[in-house]
Amino acid sequence: MYFHRRGLTLALSSPSGAGKTTLANILLQSEENLISSVSVTTRPPRPGEIDGKDYFFVSKETFSEMIADSAFLEYAEVHGNLYGTPKQFVTKSLDAGKDLLFDIDWQGAKALRNSNLCVSPVTIFILPPSGAELEKRLKGRGADDPEVIARRLHNAREEIAHWSEYDYVFVNDNPHECAEQIRTVLQAERLKRIRQTGLPDFINNLQI
Ligand code: ADP
Ligand code: 5GP
Repeated sequence: MYFHRRGLTLALSSPSGAGKTTLANILLQSEENLISSVSVTTRPPRPGEIDGKDYFFVSKETFSEMIADSAFLEYAEVHGNLYGTPKQFVTKSLDAGKDLLFDIDWQGAKALRNSNLCVSPVTIFILPPSGAELEKRLKGRGADDPEVIARRLHNAREEIAHWSEYDYVFVNDNPHECAEQIRTVLQAERLKRIRQTGLPDFINNLQI
């Protein structure tokens, strides 16, 4: 590496159950410079979820206080719960040259595109291979009550309606193949001129 690069922001969206969390875990294990933005939510934890790792689980009151304190880069209501991206962690990580992965819905991805904190965010929409497979995955995850699953399936159409706002759209059939496609995007995006903040100095020092 000849010069410093700004960290990039990569947002993954999909209807619930299409596999964002699974893909994020595969990527985070294999990509040394990639870290995950941990969102704040009012949703109750699922079995096995860890506070501070999967989410920061807070009350509605705490969430409202964080809104009042301007602590969020963006926040939205999704499937009846509130979710938000803490701002400070994002700025610190990007300044340190880390690449940041966001698991956020279409509203969050839209906010990232409009935020001046993220330069040219990369957005990827993940599709399930079929509606039947989406339902199978949501039920098979075994983490949500039947009403919650029904609500998420109902909302899937609305989330998918935003597919064309994204830079890339991939079908998550085999998770390792899909993660490989995302990795290819990551590699190319990291090389973009706009992210090479050390490039002007490097060119000035070439003495040509
Ligand atoms: P999301 O984060 O998008 O809501 P998850 O990653 O939690 O989705 O995946 C939902 C369920 O589907 C989980 O049980 C997961 O193990 C399973 N799953 C994810 N990707 C695939 C895949 N490509 N093929 C089969 N099952 C998958
Ligand atoms: P889940 O409850 O399944 O973890 O997440 C539900 C939805 O909320 C998913 O679409 C996920 O991407 C979205 N989400 C999670 N965190 C955030 C966030 O900080 N902001 C926004 N806008 N959406 C989020």
